[in-house]
Amino acid sequence: MKEGVIKKVAGPLVVARGLDESGMYEVVRVGKERLFGEIIEIRAGEYSIQVYESTEGIGPGDPVYPTGTPLSVELGPGLITGIYDGIQRPLEAIRGKFGDFIVRGAELPGLDRAKKWHFIPAVKVGAQVVAGDVVGTVDETPLVKHKIMVPPGLAGKVASIKECEATVTEPVYVLETAEGRRELPMMQKWPVRQARPVARRVPPTEPLITGQRVIDTLFPVAKGGTACVPGPFGSGKTVVQHQLAKWANAEIVVYVGCGERGNEMTDVLLEFPELQDPDSGRPLIERTVLIANTSNMPVAAREASVFCGITIAEYFRDMGYSVATMADSTSRWAEAMREISGRLEEMPGEEGFPAYLASRIAGFYERAGSVVCLGSDARTGTLSLIGAVSPPGGDLSEPVVQATLRVVKVFWGLDDALAAQRHFPAINWLNSYSLYDEMANAYAKEHVDARWPDVRRRAMWLLNREAELEELVRLVGMDALSPSDRLILQCAKMVREDFLHQSAFDPIDTYTSQRKQFAMLRNIADFYDLARQAMERGAEIDALVKLAAIESIAGMKRVDEEDVDQLDALHGSIKEQLAGLKAGAGRNP
Ligand code: ADP
Repeated sequence: MKEGVIKKVAGPLVVARGLDESGMYEVVRVGKERLFGEIIEIRAGEYSIQVYESTEGIGPGDPVYPTGTPLSVELGPGLITGIYDGIQRPLEAIRGKFGDFIVRGAELPGLDRAKKWHFIPAVKVGAQVVAGDVVGTVDETPLVKHKIMVPPGLAGKVASIKECEATVTEPVYVLETAEGRRELPMMQKWPVRQARPVARRVPPTEPLITGQRVIDTLFPVAKGGTACVPGPFGSGKTVVQHQLAKWANAEIVVYVGCGERGNEMTDVLLEFPELQDPDSGRPLIERTVLIANTSNMPVAAREASVFCGITIAEYFRDMGYSVATMADSTSRWAEAMREISGRLEEMPGEEGFPAYLASRIAGFYERAGSVVCLGSDARTGTLSLIGAVSPPGGDLSEPVVQATLRVVKVFWGLDDALAAQRHFPAINWLNSYSLYDEMANAYAKEHVDARWPDVRRRAMWLLNREAELEELVRLVGMDALSPSDRLILQCAKMVREDFLHQSAFDPIDTYTSQRKQFAMLRNIADFYDLARQAMERGAEIDALVKLAAIESIAGMKRVDEEDVDQLDALHGSIKEQLAGLKAGAGRNP
């Protein structure tokens, strides 16, 4: 193919001429150091190249080498536990080979070429297979069975296949296709900007259980759903994302750190190998792929990391797994788009972002979903996508938040006022929403307790009434409140402090099962109802607020998952205590 010559360099953007056989989104290697770049615009014989490494020292006249292939990822055994940069270079291996700083132009394959995997066939010689069919498996980690699938676009008869030890590039089966014999290895490659094909999309039917009470109970996200967590600096976006990466009941987690706060990513990198899966007791890293841009990569690499991450996630979804992907933070990606667009001298849209900001963001979230995978067994897979957005000053009217809210179905609005009061997670219950709440209610009704939707509705009612009453108090003062209003405030406070507030750093509180979430909220909601009935019988609010049950309710979050029956016992005790309150109790004689 024809080599090009650099005409000009503007930061991460290089303009070259002469690449006459190259097309849009082709990967090219720039300069004598062969830096990674991607063609992002072709106009009048000029090729604009977004370079994913520092372009220092590169100048006009230097060569540009075409590769003939689009930016792609390698898919196969070895991805799990991987820690990659935005163009799927394994950070560990790079560190071993080149030291702490990635040497520019460093070329290391995404998947280890030397490692042998134990391939176990799932089909016999003579079987007819189509794209997506599982021909064999590899136990990639104790938590993940990696399914080797016929790549999209291929079909035929299995001419040979056997159990073997093989590297990702050695053939493990032979297909007799209409176009002839194909020897196929375990590894596939896929261009990152193109969604991997599926048989069809189906509506989500299950919530992603995160163990975070405000999320699971009030604003659930579906397996295959999309959510957005916007919030100002310090409001807890990273902690929410980390909690999901740790606790969500997805089979595979892909965590994309496309920010610049490298130190936070290091936290994840250090913390992950130590964390254990609550079900299996295995290290959580054994179901996780981490993508982190290194601090010496230019902002342009953020775009690559986002697409690289989602493609790896789709690949595991195609195996029939539930995959959760966190992107932290998509604002940094959008800023990179703005910078590149500015250098391309495109007409700026709102706040300098390119006009295609919204469609690029939509295209990203559209890759989430619940699907019937390719393949004749019609298995289903899900890809949930949770993006953090960090708008400057927490301004939700800003273009990146707005573009995101148009496509996602869940909004967890983080609030600095709550964060300032150290109410964490600082998800504002008055403006957050989930469009999956009906589905999640139906699921919990069947799998947790028939009263789940009712208890949830009553808790939301208390929170909304509290907001109205607080407004009233601001206008006319506490004295305007009736005893029944005071009871509402007391119980709404229980919902906030004893249920919604959840410490990510407390070993018990960090995760709450749905069963325990239900028991906790039921106790609060029933406390309110029974207390109101007691008041109707003549009990005084001052007696109610002194009941021992209030203290016990505050202690519910410290009850171990194994002792969750204690919460049912507490429910009995709440009933007794309130039934025992006779008319006039608490009134001064
Ligand atoms: P952001 O990413 O929005 O800038 P962080 O996620 O880093 O914010 O959170 C800032 C701080 O808030 C954390 O260091 C932690 O002290 C506190 N925090 C956030 N969420 C929680 C939580 N669920 N439990 C306890 N502390 C939290």
